[in-house]
Amino acid sequence: MSDVIAAPAQARVPVRGGGTFPVRRIFCVGRNFADHAKEMGAPVPASKAERGQPVFFTKPADAIVIDGVVPYASATHDLHHEVELVVALGEGAKVFGYAVGLDLTRRDLQSAAKAKGLPWDIGKAFDHSAPIGEIAPAALVGELAPRTLSLMVNGTQRQHSTLDQLIWDVPDILAELSKLFELKAGDLVFMGTPAGVSALQVGDRFEARLDDVLHLAGTIAPPRPAR
Ligand code: MN
Repeated sequence: MSDVIAAPAQARVPVRGGGTFPVRRIFCVGRNFADHAKEMGAPVPASKAERGQPVFFTKPADAIVIDGVVPYASATHDLHHEVELVVALGEGAKVFGYAVGLDLTRRDLQSAAKAKGLPWDIGKAFDHSAPIGEIAPAALVGELAPRTLSLMVNGTQRQHSTLDQLIWDVPDILAELSKLFELKAGDLVFMGTPAGVSALQVGDRFEARLDDVLHLAGTIAPPRPAR
């Protein structure tokens, strides 16, 4: 039997040292830094024992952007940046490597959905909502906790935190996700953002880093015309 439409293109992320990483699914963690939970008006757990369950949502694999050119999203007047560590799962769902990415958010639509108790999809899972940098093998990144995640927009620092501030670290999140989904090679996990989220405008230049080991640079381009 032949396909009745052209098969969708496989989303792929370049890997440092050569090759590409085919993307299967994108999981995202919400409220994983206390300072960001606080700025969003969400409860902040007093201790690890009181942290409850992590918040998960997803984006489609083809939301990734690898050339750094991100069209301003349709249907929003409040497109926010959230800089995040991204975990890339390899064979056996073991950590293959890491990248930095932006969990772009239509904050106005997400806030309206939250207020009505509705799903976050239209605020989170839109086209071009997941720009991502090159994936570096885990051994090149080393210990995560002391490393600093940061985002500059037009040369001004907007977000900045060490990864020891994660409420749920990478092993915690993979253990929790595994209770809900069978994780597989090709899955990406956006680990959540520190405080400082705010709006992007057409023409903005962004630069995300994890120290000097992971990097993502790009621009917000004019919206693509609706069809
Ligand atoms: Mn996020």
